[in-house]
Amino acid sequence: LSEPRIKAPRGTYDVLPEQAPARALLESRARAILEGAGYERIETPAFEATELFARGVGESTDIVQKEMYTFLDGSGRSLTLRPEGTAPICRAYIEHGMHKLAGPVKLWYLSSFFRYERAQSGRYREFWQVGAEALGSDDPAVDAESILLLASLLAELGVEGVRLRLSSLGDAESRGEYRERLQAHLHAHADELSPEVRERIDANPLRAFDSLHEGTLAVMAEAPRLLDQLSAEDAEHFAAVRELLDAAGVRYQVDPTLVRGLDYYTRTVFEFTSDALGAQSGVGGGGRYDGLVELLGGPPTPAMGWAAGIERMLIAAGEELQQAAPARVDLFVAIQDSDSRTLAFELLRDARSAGLAAQMELAGRSLKRQLAHADRLGARYVAIVDGREAALKDMESGDQENMDAGAVVHALLRGLREIA
Ligand code: AMP
Repeated sequence: LSEPRIKAPRGTYDVLPEQAPARALLESRARAILEGAGYERIETPAFEATELFARGVGESTDIVQKEMYTFLDGSGRSLTLRPEGTAPICRAYIEHGMHKLAGPVKLWYLSSFFRYERAQSGRYREFWQVGAEALGSDDPAVDAESILLLASLLAELGVEGVRLRLSSLGDAESRGEYRERLQAHLHAHADELSPEVRERIDANPLRAFDSLHEGTLAVMAEAPRLLDQLSAEDAEHFAAVRELLDAAGVRYQVDPTLVRGLDYYTRTVFEFTSDALGAQSGVGGGGRYDGLVELLGGPPTPAMGWAAGIERMLIAAGEELQQAAPARVDLFVAIQDSDSRTLAFELLRDARSAGLAAQMELAGRSLKRQLAHADRLGARYVAIVDGREAALKDMESGDQENMDAGAVVHALLRGLREIA
């Protein structure tokens, strides 16, 4: 009578070894692009004070209202598994006095995040994001560079059917005025709206743009547009961002209905989608959040950033990524019999000291099976150790050479050099 088997929690998954090479390649591409542009890696804790997200992400957002994994720790503090990366980075920026550094401070991360969402393909409860944040400058070139970096990453990964939508939400003031006009419009048509949107007219009217409800869509088609009401300064900022993107050859569509799920955005907002994905088509997005650092108790700090979903990039990525090769094996050390094990072990150690990727027989297989195993691993060479002697076999040509076991590493390095 066995206990029921324990499975991974709903909405989570194991990254199995066969998926590791694609993820490793994605990470190395992201690192090359972001670090090449002066972004430095940051890691923040997996959990934070609940208050950080309540304040930073916004009380009225879906994330804070329904999706947070919140718990009390042993001393009764309310903690929350991070649902996103921007608020924690602002918290760290303030905590470590990074505003004293030359701006913009450019940070990137690759971490997992937690949201209690309805699990489906491309949507998980623990998911991974790569993200980039630039804090300390309101220069439109920061916005354009940030967007360009994500565009480059998606291109490098061969993500298919990529589209970019772009808009501006203006500053807090014009957004506030707009909010009131939108609320008036929504109240005037309240009975045509979905109950969910109606309930949140006061709390979060902008989210009405995300609704797929028919009546709401009709009301929204007639709604005033924020993009038409930007202050002169914000309009100029947006024009400058567009001009830079145009100059860089980044194609986009201006979409005045684009509002992002989080409260903190100001000015530029954007989202990349991929036609290669199903209903969950968002690959990554972000925007400017000029008020967030101050809202969290720091000095006034304009900032801009984005996050992109690892799972979705992997689904939509091109063949090169899908077929990323597992780690190479330069040498497999096989043994004629168990008496040769000690010498084989020494050879293994020497090969590794010389920088070779080496493995040895660890499961008591017959010689025939050892060779089959080495073949399966894709070993470039096999050394069959027999007493003090070894036969070095080139697995590609099939050539075999006998030598002293101590000479194998030397011969191998020479051989590998010739190949290269
Ligand atoms: P957000 O932080 O909501 O702006 O999301 C940025 C990106 O993260 C999205 O475009 C998705 O690619 C990814 N993402 C967000 N939520 C999830 C989730 N629950 N599961 C998988 N990916 C997600």
